Amino acid sequence: MRPTLSFEFFPPMSPAANLRLWTSVERLAPLAPNFVSVTYGAGGTTRARTLAAISTIRERARLNVAGHLTCVGATRDETLEVARGFAKQGVRRIVALRGDAPKGADKFEPHPDGFVSAAELVGALREEGFRDISVAAYPEKHPEATTLETDIDNLKRKLDAGATDAITQFCFDTDTFFRFRDAAAKAGITAPIVPGILPVENFAKMKNFAGRCAAAVPAWMDQAFGNVETDAEAHLLSVSIAAEQCSEMMAQGVDHLHFYTLNNPDLTFDICTAIGIEPIAMQGVVGGTA
Ligand code: FAD
Repeated sequence: MRPTLSFEFFPPMSPAANLRLWTSVERLAPLAPNFVSVTYGAGGTTRARTLAAISTIRERARLNVAGHLTCVGATRDETLEVARGFAKQGVRRIVALRGDAPKGADKFEPHPDGFVSAAELVGALREEGFRDISVAAYPEKHPEATTLETDIDNLKRKLDAGATDAITQFCFDTDTFFRFRDAAAKAGITAPIVPGILPVENFAKMKNFAGRCAAAVPAWMDQAFGNVETDAEAHLLSVSIAAEQCSEMMAQGVDHLHFYTLNNPDLTFDICTAIGIEPIAMQGVVGGTA
């Protein structure tokens, strides 16, 4: 069965990056995603850019857009005001996050009048009337969590507070994802757990980023990327790794895939076509009602 899709973008910082975002949206829209999402800088650093990107994608591609929202460095009301701004742009889905500590700080400290966790934010968003709320999940546990079990308890708190599904941090070991899904089910979680798929655009950069997220990079990936000689080979390798992971997941009942596109449409597009998802002809509204 064809899985449903979502594509994550980050808000651009320059006119050139803006063009790249738009090119990415145009290229991926014919794959008819259920929604696309736009990230939000912790501390509100991208507030205006996230809103602008949401509005452009909605107006020009008429896709369903989810806004990411974090609680860092803002009062509860300031955070909810951003959510209300999203709603004014027609956004119905929020990816509700706590966010990381700002640059220079070694750990997250809630604003004195702010939300202390994503679970608290989810509860407040429900009261604001949002019904589609995704939260983050970590198959290899969040770096600050003491154990995977306490982190799964936290995921359950977010879902019990009203979140509708969880999107995972990327995780290259597919069995780890399945073990996490089983452990979550054992803890009483019934909401969908959507795997976040990270196409590898630049192996060295990805490894650095994975280190910061405490996501493991298996030794076989080091070896495989160590052997590639050209950009074309690296592209093919990235596509085949992600396509194989998606196929294994689909065979085990995963019916929605979330892609961290990094605003690079080619890898995501090629992975989707490699797993049998054909682009559709663009005719007006794409991906359902916007
Ligand atoms: P929470 O769920 O609040 O958890 C944070 C930590 O606190 C965890 O270790 C948790 O176990 C622990 N915890 C929380 N409550 C309790 C409790 N009551 N008792 C014990 N432990 C507790 N970051 C951005 O800045 N912008 C984005 O747009 C963004 N998008 C993301 C999208 C996805 C799909 C994912 C997976 C992550 C994203 N992030 C983003 C990163 C995220 O903000 C960080 O990982 C952040 O450090 C944690 O956010 P959270 O929502 O998971 O926090």
